[in-house]
Amino acid sequence: MTNPRTIRGAVLNTMGAEPPYADSRPITIDELDLTGPGPGELLVRIEAAGLCHSDLSVVNGSRPRPLPMLLGHEAAGIVEAVGPGVQSVRVGQRVVMTFLPRCGECAACKTEGRLPCSAGSASNAEGTLLTGTRHLERGGEPVAHHLGVSGFATHAVVDERSIVPVGDDVPPTVAALLGCERIPSMSASGMSRLYASATVLKPAAIPSTSRV
Ligand SMILES: [Zn+2]
Ligand SMILES: [Zn+2]
Repeated sequence: MTNPRTIRGAVLNTMGAEPPYADSRPITIDELDLTGPGPGELLVRIEAAGLCHSDLSVVNGSRPRPLPMLLGHEAAGIVEAVGPGVQSVRVGQRVVMTFLPRCGECAACKTEGRLPCSAGSASNAEGTLLTGTRHLERGGEPVAHHLGVSGFATHAVVDERSIVPVGDDVPPTVAALLGCERIPSMSASGMSRLYASATVLKPAAIPSTSRV
């Protein structure tokens, strides 16, 4: 395991704060310690991240999660380091992070994307990566990962099964949105087809709101 690096990120400290949040301020921008990447994990420098109700539902408390939590569940960035055993990506490659990792082993993962991964759903509820690991601390206090991503930060350590590599010609602002809007409903082969055609996408073709 590498020594921790200092990152900055948006940490949710309380759920169900009184709106407007500009006054109650449930989220603070803090310095955190980030360890890793461990086996099967990678360090990503975040380029872009999207916001949808998957974050806002945690902020308002309708989807309770462990706190404090570094938010952000749909993001794109550049791989800066890979842990032992990582084979699907290389340093310098752009990746999309998606909010539901797939173990590839459970019964739900055998349904071509129709059912959410059981292990991924469990780790998301616990605020860990798919392996059950946490890599975030703030002043010595553990901080939960959000949906295996925690993309509202300068850097993230994520499980290899939470990412999809994309070409450099896919703009990070487009790639980040695809991480939530489309990928979770698709099989691995479907994702490959999506990214094979992603260069023709125009920003106007991206829905302004996410269904996830
Ligand atoms: Zn989303
Ligand atoms: Zn699974």
